[in-house]
Amino acid sequence: MTKPMFDKVALIGIGLIGSSMAHAMRRANLAGHIAGYAKRPQTLARAKAVGFAHSLHDDVKSAVENADLVVLAAPVGAFAELGPLVGPHLKKGAILTDVGSVKSAVVRDVGPHVPSGVHFIPGHPIAGTEQSGPEAGFAELFDGRWCILTPPPGTDEDAVALLSDFWRKLGSDVEIMEPKHHDLVLAITSHVPHLIAYNIVGTAADLEAVTQSEVIKFSAGGFRDFTRIAASDPTMWRDVFLNNREAVLEMLGRFNEDLSALARAIRWGDGDALHALFTRTRAIRRSIIAAGQDTEAPDFGRKPNAE
Ligand code: NAP
Repeated sequence: MTKPMFDKVALIGIGLIGSSMAHAMRRANLAGHIAGYAKRPQTLARAKAVGFAHSLHDDVKSAVENADLVVLAAPVGAFAELGPLVGPHLKKGAILTDVGSVKSAVVRDVGPHVPSGVHFIPGHPIAGTEQSGPEAGFAELFDGRWCILTPPPGTDEDAVALLSDFWRKLGSDVEIMEPKHHDLVLAITSHVPHLIAYNIVGTAADLEAVTQSEVIKFSAGGFRDFTRIAASDPTMWRDVFLNNREAVLEMLGRFNEDLSALARAIRWGDGDALHALFTRTRAIRRSIIAAGQDTEAPDFGRKPNAE
């Protein structure tokens, strides 16, 4: 067997993303040793039962020590606490990266704790599910998905190339971006859609004239597709909104204006305006399928009578 890409990889956080990385690293023989850290003993016990890590740690020091690659895979709100815990134990020449869903806040919270001689390259795999925890991971999660890296200016090019190669071997395509631009793009492609889903499911839950059992019974009309997104991890998503405040509020402003225009078109019976928008949005769906980012099977491939 060929030598793995890294002798030791430390995963700080071993939920959906951390455990999926471990499975995908094993699939492609990318790490000689995978060390996992989580804060709660029950998470470590659950990870042990699944068995994707070579060692599990209840202290950051022993997990990080001597690692060639350290991946922060905890909720973004934990990074301010993790930066000073991880920083002092990073070895010279190591790469420190993360998988957080926002990037400017990671640069702000972790950047100051990275010692010189360590390559700090924040990252974000655009892949996920509504599941969380160490049992949720699977090796194929990153296949055919994008991973965005946001190296600060002046980052060692060989380190960026090595981390890019690592993500390609995990199954992803890699794109390099500025952190601020990443946060704006993800605000509209991921963060605002999640907020809309949380909101519509919350509104339905609070209705009085329509009962909750009716909402559930007739959910196949479209509502249930929002519930999948609205079932995503509450801690992770709280942290995303608190740490990408500016970009989310900017996109939400645009969204509210467009929603008002739609409401006006409905009120005044402007069918042409509605039809024109719905035609444009259909084309976007077709482009997503053409780009291989979703299935073209009707109803996401659900069995016709599954409802
Ligand atoms: P997850 O399944 O909930 O796992 C989070 C992990 O972090 C757990 O192992 C948790 O264990 C640990 N953790 C929580 N608080 C911590 C703290 N204060 N210090 C150290 N570890 C802590 O979450 P996930 O979906 O893998 O998300 C991890 C990161 O990936 C997040 O930053 C998220 O923004 C990003 N991301 C998520 C998705 C997605 O769709 N889920 C996609 C792309 C990127 P303990 O609670 O025991 O510590």
